Amino acid sequence: MAVVGVLALQGSYNEHLAALRRIGVRGVEVRKPEQLLGLDSLIIPGGESTTMAKLANYHNLFPALREFVSGGKPVWGTCAGLIFLANKAVGQKTGGQELVGGLDCTVHRNFFGSQLQSFETELSVPKLAEKEGGNDTCRGVFIRAPAILEVGSDVEILADCPVPANRPSIVISSGEGAEEEVYSKDRVIVAVRQGNILATAFHPELTSDSRWHRFFLDMDKESQAKALAALSLSSSS
Ligand code: GLN
Repeated sequence: MAVVGVLALQGSYNEHLAALRRIGVRGVEVRKPEQLLGLDSLIIPGGESTTMAKLANYHNLFPALREFVSGGKPVWGTCAGLIFLANKAVGQKTGGQELVGGLDCTVHRNFFGSQLQSFETELSVPKLAEKEGGNDTCRGVFIRAPAILEVGSDVEILADCPVPANRPSIVISSGEGAEEEVYSKDRVIVAVRQGNILATAFHPELTSDSRWHRFFLDMDKESQAKALAALSLSSSS
């Protein structure tokens, strides 16, 4: 049975563990680099990415997290977890923050505004219906949420949503020498997959809909099947 690690430094890790329990999967809390060993996959939850980065630094987790992501095992970042996995984050008030990276995208940390602009909306996610049949809509819970401004060519877009009218104007790039650029599209990307990486700007663990967790578990099964196939190839050669 798959063992799914949940980064348990801060944020909604208990809710992810409960969501995993609901579908009969064992989740384990991860706070130290050595606890990543032996896991089949990892969830990086939502919370507050600056605080999470400080705690990750304190526990010397960044090198081990990067190794885990580049090792090819499935990793799912929700909200602050998505920010952690992005190759580039914009929208910080001060300086930069350390990121795990791996996901070829630019994310805006607080795209939808402040805590007061948190919202829920229906999202259309054809991939969820493709896997399980039934309805392709799911409830997106956006809490001081980030969004994905740009993706690289290897990134599959799973969901986007309309940009709410009450959102503050978002400056994509500014600062020394850079021209100020404002986000002007009327939709924005909120869920993507790139190989072993799944990322959602919203919080499926705060709903009773288990389809996202099952979707992630399927990525886990795919990756284990691949590892087994590679093993049997190498032992037969
Ligand atoms: N925008 C938050 C951040 O910068 C993330 C919010 C969340 O995870 N709910 O970390």
